[in-house]
Amino acid sequence: MKNRVQLITYVDRLGGAGLQSLAELLSGPLAGLFGTVHLLPFFHPVDGADAGFDPIDHTRVDERLGAWQDIRRLAGTVDVMADVIVNHISADSPQFQDFSRLGRSSRYDGLFLTLESVFPHGAREQDLTAVYRPRPGLPLTPVTLASGEKRILWTTFTAQQLDIDVRHPQGRAYLEGILRTFSAYGIRAIRLDAVGYAIKKAGTSCFMLPETFEFMGELTELARTLGMEVLVEVHSHYLRQIEIASRVDWVYDFALPPLVLHAIFDSTARYLKEWIAIRPRNALTVLDTHDGIGIIDIGADARHPGLVPPEGLDELVETIHARSHGQSRLATGAAASNLDLYQVNCTFYDALGRNDREYLFARAIQFFLPGIPQVYYVGLLAGGNDMELLARTGTGRDINRHYYDHKEVLEALSRPVVRDLLCLIRLRNVHPAFQGEFQVGESAERSLALRWRAGCEYALLLADFATGRWRLEYTEGGMAQSLQLESAPAEERMPEFQVRWSE
Ligand code: BGC
Repeated sequence: MKNRVQLITYVDRLGGAGLQSLAELLSGPLAGLFGTVHLLPFFHPVDGADAGFDPIDHTRVDERLGAWQDIRRLAGTVDVMADVIVNHISADSPQFQDFSRLGRSSRYDGLFLTLESVFPHGAREQDLTAVYRPRPGLPLTPVTLASGEKRILWTTFTAQQLDIDVRHPQGRAYLEGILRTFSAYGIRAIRLDAVGYAIKKAGTSCFMLPETFEFMGELTELARTLGMEVLVEVHSHYLRQIEIASRVDWVYDFALPPLVLHAIFDSTARYLKEWIAIRPRNALTVLDTHDGIGIIDIGADARHPGLVPPEGLDELVETIHARSHGQSRLATGAAASNLDLYQVNCTFYDALGRNDREYLFARAIQFFLPGIPQVYYVGLLAGGNDMELLARTGTGRDINRHYYDHKEVLEALSRPVVRDLLCLIRLRNVHPAFQGEFQVGESAERSLALRWRAGCEYALLLADFATGRWRLEYTEGGMAQSLQLESAPAEERMPEFQVRWSE
């Protein structure tokens, strides 16, 4: 992937109805900002039970957004990443309809995972309770098929999203068909959605098994032969994330959003620095995505402590709720039909109480960490919580999935905080230091010093968490410059602190 900032967006929520208007935005007001655009599911249909993550036809572009030719055209101007929803398919898919009618004589018999196909010899209580899921309840849905037969289907997410058997020839053919279609229309990278759940095996947690790695490896090999890179989406304990990163092309740094918030709220760089020392570098750095702010990503698991002690996590969640004036509480946990109870739903800007200076600081940290920064469209526009959409749909994650019309986008782009963010994005994209060597300076617990150097060019981020002040310096034509922010009042001098750089 290009070492440039990426955009992650829905096709129909940023400036208009579809692919053409998004392309115009990207070649107009947003020109030159992004090396890659991750288009969230644009398949038929985009407005099912899980905002496109429940495709009826994964190889068809939702007509309301455009057509494959639009994707191909866009892919000619910017690298495009798209989701491969490996784990499940809509209950309204033609494949399931066929299976529902014909049962065991359907050509799709075997495509859908059932209780029986995972546990052919029956499941004991302890087998079922061992299955990992980010919320209580079993991943099973009893159904009566159109044929009249009663079955128990495996449904990790919602009853509308039917898990497929990715090891069955039908499952393989299905996934291969998606990859080939993507490649034919110029898609350069794929995101393996919820891939941690893809393999089920009796007697295990059915999450991130050795066989899951094998499966990811096979899919990655095929993707590579088709000219596509692979990003793996897994929320899990940080040690597991490190292990996954060592075996795949790209992972997300999902620990970063909660850690940055914790560091700012708690005035300490301690945990952030500990993470920076061990975090994978083949990571897409994020502060926000279409999902919530992950808590398990920095929490403990049954055997290992987390990156932040448990009391720190409770405080973090409560502070987000307080800073967002209680809005995130209404969208989080059991409050709003959430798929993942351990994510806090809130825009990142509102999680920080709309503090421009802190918001840009968080982005600066994100952009300085090794990896490729990805910015969510709501975050790009420093957007606030959409309480109206939340109330209308009752879906927690909708709080951070506003539909911007074209006028709103232009208005947002003229706000000082957004203009400052665009400056930061440009600096990250073009400054030669970011192609060079990264270092963390040794400094006291409440301060942070990050530096990139290439020859005599450098970019330096210095922050004092005790006072919340930070400064960004960089070279321009050999001269040292300090980044001036439009949105935050001129800074009083940042307290000096000691930094040691190992040579
Ligand atoms: C996606 C979610 C989606 C889930 C099921 C994920 O991890 O990011 O938005 O609901 O997979 O497809």
